[in-house]
Parts: sequence; C-alpha cells; structure tokens
Amino acid sequence: MAAEAGTPTPADVYRARARIAGRVARTPLLSSPRLARACGADTVSLKLEMLQLSGAFKLRGATNALLALAPEVCARGVVTASTGNHGRALAYAARAEGVACTVCLSGLVPENKAAAVRELGAEVVRTGDDQDAAVAEALRLAAEHGFSYIPPFDHAEVIAGQGTIGLELLEDAPDLDTVIVPLSGGGLLAGVALIVKAINPAVHIVGVSPERGAAMIESLRAGYPVEVAEEGTLADSLGGGIGLDNRHTFALVRGLVDEVVQVSEGEIAAAMRGLYRHERLVTEGAAAVGAALLARGGVPGGGGRVAALITGNNVDMDAFTRLVREND
Ligand SMILES: *Cc1c(COP(=O)(O)O)cnc(C)c1O
Repeated sequence: MAAEAGTPTPADVYRARARIAGRVARTPLLSSPRLARACGADTVSLKLEMLQLSGAFKLRGATNALLALAPEVCARGVVTASTGNHGRALAYAARAEGVACTVCLSGLVPENKAAAVRELGAEVVRTGDDQDAAVAEALRLAAEHGFSYIPPFDHAEVIAGQGTIGLELLEDAPDLDTVIVPLSGGGLLAGVALIVKAINPAVHIVGVSPERGAAMIESLRAGYPVEVAEEGTLADSLGGGIGLDNRHTFALVRGLVDEVVQVSEGEIAAAMRGLYRHERLVTEGAAAVGAALLARGGVPGGGGRVAALITGNNVDMDAFTRLVREND
C-alpha cells in the first residue's frame, strides 16, 4: 500500500478514541439470531451506530477532526459542504465545543435538510446548482475567513475517528471472524479496517455498496479513482464520488478490504423492513446494506461470528412508514 504522508495509522485511532471519549456515544451490540439463521453464521452482532448522538456514526470523525485542530485554528470556525450525516455531525460537534460552523449547500438540497442543519446551530450558505459548487464555496469561505474545511471521508482525522468503532467492536466481541461495513467514500471502512486488521489480521472485512452509483467499487475495479453517474438509491447516504484526487481512502480500502459486494434496491428495502419488524430498529437505507447481504444467505469469509455496522437512522419517517408497511 502506498502510504502517503499524513495517512492515518492505528495509533491515530487510539488517539481519536481518547479525544472523543465522553463526547460521542459508545454504541451497543445487538444480537440477531434471525440474521444468523438466514446466513448460516454462528452469531450476527449488529453495532447500533444509528443510536449515535447525531443519528449516525459520522459524529465520531467530525468530533475527532474538530478537536485535532490547534485551539486557535479551531476557534476561527469550521466549514463543510455535506448535505447528509456529515454536515449534521459537524454542526453537532461544533455546537458542543462552542465553535462556529458553516455548511454550504447547493440549491438542489431540499429545504427540510437545510433547516435540520440550521437547527443544530450551523449557518447554512446556499450556493450553485450542484455539490461541486457547494464544495468550491466551502473552500472559498475557508480561505477568506480562516475556517477549517472538514470533508466527509478523505481526511486522516475523520478516518481515525470512524475507526474508533472497530476498537469498540473488538472489545465487545473479541472473537469476530467477519465485519461487514457500508461503503461509500470509504472513511468508515478505512478507519475500521485499519484498527481491526492491526489487532487481528485474520478478521475478514467486507464492504457493501448499492448496485447504483458505487464509486469506490468501480474505482477498485479500475485500479484508480473514477467517477460514476449519480443514481437515486434508497441508500442515499452512500451516494457521491470518492474524488478523482482521493488522498487516503482509496489506497486504504484497496489495501485492507477482503471483499466488496453490491446489493439491489429490493434487497435494501427488504432489509430495512426486516430490521424494523424483527429487531425493531429504524434504519436508513445505507445502514441496512449489511443486513441485506446477510439475508441473501452464506457468510462472507465463511467465518462463524459476524458483525454488521448499522450506521444511521436519518430517514424521512413518512417514507419509512410507507416502506415498512409494504410486503417483500
Ligand atoms: C457516510 C455514511 C456511510 C458511508 O461512510 P463512508 O465513510 O462515506 O464510506 C454509511 N452509512 C451512513 C448512514 C452514512 O452516513
């Protein structure tokens, strides 16, 4: 693996854990005998990051990146351009530390999402017609006001923060054989795989993306970061590219992941229904892709003890209740 300067290490994950302790929830594992039966594993443990304080694991990376800044730099404020769970997480983390946060959103982002970020105390700047324009504006504001730009995944301290999930997993289930991780930009998979493989290289790490718009998987196939057409998916938090100038996550994911798999929209919907009806969990589509894979049958890696990361609950409740009332 080509380790670029500044690439996160397992030591960064331990540092992240010390930094964010007390500021993020230590989430529980829930055993799912149903999914264990479905895939033929001895046990399936669900890591409930949908119970994280901001509704998704991204609070770990955002909090770690914020606290890793020098105090005088942090005091000038932070900026990002994420519409989804990262924007919410950074707003949440900044408010907790009393730091100003700006979130740049394109005109395409629905007003209810912008309002949710404002409710977390961040300033929303509307700009342009697409995500690229929002990122450009965030970088411009960073240069103009001295804000620190905190991207959603391709950032060493964000990756290290997400990796703290791996530490908790191995403390609560030391004998895991397989860990199943939703995969988009790869900050989560890179962080978790970095620490899990450092502690136990035999653990089989599986990344799961939707069939639609799987930029990291297409990039792994190509051998370098590529762009894919954005397509609507129930797993909307897994949309978006990995950046043609990707610095960290592509190399880390390529070096550490054992297997990547794609799941269909129908499988994601059925997995959301299954998690709701049987485990009584409200999950967004991105959070259900691991359960979708297990419901297919067969344990990836062939191991007996499996953990799947249930990553977030940021779902429109009207759409969710409609979906769970439908039949498979
Ligand atoms: C961001 C996100 C992911 C994927 O994380 P990456 O670091 O982009 O791979 C998975 N699930 C949810 C709920 C997310 O918000």
